[in-house]
Amino acid sequence: MFTPLELIYPVVSRRAGGLSLGVDLFPDRKTCNFDCPYCEIFPFPGEPPFRPEDLDRELAEFFEVDYPSFPPDLPLRDLTLSGSGEPTLSPHLGSALASIRTARDRWAPGADLVLITNSTTLGHPETAALLGRCVDEAGLRIWAKLDGGNEEWYGRMSRSRVPFRDVVEGILSFSSAHAVIVQTMLCTLDGRGPSDADLADYAGLVEDVLGRGARFLEIHLYTQARPSPEGRTSPLPEADLSAAADLVSRRAPGVPVRVFGRTGELSR
Ligand code: SF4
Repeated sequence: MFTPLELIYPVVSRRAGGLSLGVDLFPDRKTCNFDCPYCEIFPFPGEPPFRPEDLDRELAEFFEVDYPSFPPDLPLRDLTLSGSGEPTLSPHLGSALASIRTARDRWAPGADLVLITNSTTLGHPETAALLGRCVDEAGLRIWAKLDGGNEEWYGRMSRSRVPFRDVVEGILSFSSAHAVIVQTMLCTLDGRGPSDADLADYAGLVEDVLGRGARFLEIHLYTQARPSPEGRTSPLPEADLSAAADLVSRRAPGVPVRVFGRTGELSR
């Protein structure tokens, strides 16, 4: 019998290639400065707010009680800050990073530490300094969202007041010092996917920021794999994803471009 956990959740991740242990910094309510139409967070009743001591307790329970019963062919690939919102907006970001680092070092030394972010705070000096230290000292991997190559596409996908320019410049400034993995959702909205011009803008933007000093470990183009509450988005066909990846690869020589369809990574 597994212990009920509120803040952490093991998932089989197509992009991590195994088990990923998610950490939710917002168990009480969704907290995000984006409103992506494909967001998979359904309304939920809400638990008590995040407390750092609860995370430490749950991590110990998971690793000492639950994890030994998991199938050995399902390795733990990473501990990931993600969950019901944008993790960098949490006042507990620093303590949560410290907690997953301690847990990783003690119970899962081969696992990565990952932060999935919508990139809106990568240009904020305090957040960038905290994340940069964690990259340098603990090998944190930053998965930075870049949904769109122009203002209009970005606006459609994020419905955010954060200007597109701030997101792009944040990714550029942060990644110039600490390389990131860029992740981009490609899906249809109300039956319409990104146009050829949208994709050309995206590839051009990637080329531009790389030319200005951005460093990308990988670019992940992925499509919707699970339903969203709004129900207005759908996955892109695999052929369209592969064509987009070919286009981006040509403009980002030396950066691996990986493509994830509904059920897993596509071979290219
Ligand atoms: S950035 Fe993430 S959490 Fe925020 S609305 Fe988009 S998909 Fe949802």
